[in-house]
Amino acid sequence: MTGIPFVTLADPQYGQVVQLSPLVQRVVAENPSKFTYHGTGTYLVGRSDAGADIAVIDPGPALDAHRTALLAAIGNRRVIAVLVTHCHADHSPLAPWLADRAGAPTVGFGRHPRLDDPDSDDDDDPGPDDDPGPDDDPGPDDGPGTDGDGEGAGAAIEESTDYDFDPLVRVTDGDVAAVAGAFTLRAVHTPGHTSNHMCYALEQERSLFTGDHIMGWSTTVIGPPDGDMRAYFESLRKVQARADEVLWPTHGAPVGHPRPFLEAFLAHRLQREAQVLAAVRSGQTSIAAMVEVLYADVRMELHKPAGRSVLAHLVKLIDDGLVAVDGDVGPTLKAIYRAV
Ligand SMILES: [Zn+2]
Repeated sequence: MTGIPFVTLADPQYGQVVQLSPLVQRVVAENPSKFTYHGTGTYLVGRSDAGADIAVIDPGPALDAHRTALLAAIGNRRVIAVLVTHCHADHSPLAPWLADRAGAPTVGFGRHPRLDDPDSDDDDDPGPDDDPGPDDDPGPDDGPGTDGDGEGAGAAIEESTDYDFDPLVRVTDGDVAAVAGAFTLRAVHTPGHTSNHMCYALEQERSLFTGDHIMGWSTTVIGPPDGDMRAYFESLRKVQARADEVLWPTHGAPVGHPRPFLEAFLAHRLQREAQVLAAVRSGQTSIAAMVEVLYADVRMELHKPAGRSVLAHLVKLIDDGLVAVDGDVGPTLKAIYRAV
């Protein structure tokens, strides 16, 4: 597969407020996992002097230590908005708490939709029992992304959804999400990882807070039915068309040279899509069989989550008119696929 120039974060400095640029600070929550890397990086945007107005992006998981660390990091500054990139449990749960406390609005695209997942009762659905375990954690020792192809790893394992989150202020693409004397944050709608995923552009520093859309240490999970590969491709191209100098993912280190990164992500997914199409054309009819071939170099325990990623590609290929699925249920993990 195409190489992606992954970047690592040497030390998360849990609970500490770290000044990353003149207008950006970060506090990392101690919720490390295979899907959050070292943990959730909550960003504070604005000046650092007393009394300054700031916005907070992705307040993070409901951990007492993270609450305490955030309040200490905010200090005697005024929170004017609490922005959320999307409603996964490592991003949004503390948003209502912080907004209440600060008397500020929560801001986001909208609720996470509740969709029928035909695979949700499936025995093969990856669940907590299928968790590959800490040995497979792509940590600093393993180097980032060393599961060979982390895409899809854990679509339904740890990325549990915060269906309760409902932003007070709903923004759409191009809207100003938060503004103060020192900064303007503008919403950039980037569906794919989830349909309601938002990035936020900091105009004064030409940087973009990318949530889970683009991460420096791993590919992102695209898990149907809400995860959408076609939308993800379009959202990668949307970021590619911008001229951001820095990307700030919620997990891991910043991406200082976005262009080659975005090209590599696109190339990686296009290559995988071509492989899936070739597998169907060569007569493979089941996702299980395709995974055996496409992920031959990836540990067996990651094959089930890899199936979700193959499903995401198949959904797009069906939409493209290149693949058909048997039966009335539509594309599922156990459906039979054939070339058109
Ligand atoms: Zn997520």
